[in-house]
Amino acid sequence: MTVLWRGNARPPASMPDQNRTQMKRSPLKRKPYSISRESPDVIPTLKRKLWKLISRFVHERDNWTCITCGKVARSEEDQAFFDGGHYKPEGQYKSIQFDLVNVNCQCRGCNRYHHGRYGDYAEALIKKYGIEEFNALIERSRKTKSWTEEELLTLIVAIRNPNNYTKIYNKLLDQL
Ligand SMILES: [Zn+2]
Repeated sequence: MTVLWRGNARPPASMPDQNRTQMKRSPLKRKPYSISRESPDVIPTLKRKLWKLISRFVHERDNWTCITCGKVARSEEDQAFFDGGHYKPEGQYKSIQFDLVNVNCQCRGCNRYHHGRYGDYAEALIKKYGIEEFNALIERSRKTKSWTEEELLTLIVAIRNPNNYTKIYNKLLDQL
């Protein structure tokens, strides 16, 4: 048995065995995701992973219907032309970058070629979620957020259960 005792040559005789065991180093805790902790790309990689999951979720939730023009993807071919579209742009509003109200199914035409149809998007959000939820989203958008590795990992796991995801997400923002 290896006991890490560095004070004296021998641990005091009065020390019970149980305490000696606790002095051992605990085994390294492994991250539940196989990305090297040393990699400088870990945050961008986790963000891409989370975004992929969120995008997939909103497409299904919204029945592949564009929030701003109502166009529907009827085939797999069509689906390639649909995005997860942010109401408030992700670059500027990091706190709601992965927010399930801020992200909705949107056709590529609206999302990429009409700047997200910002005015129509606001109207559609109010219609879809109600004015209170819309105002709450605006409140969340005003927070300054920088996502940590741990938070992103938590969200990646949580998105499997969207109700829990929203609770966890909003709690992370409440702390700001
Ligand atoms: Zn559209």
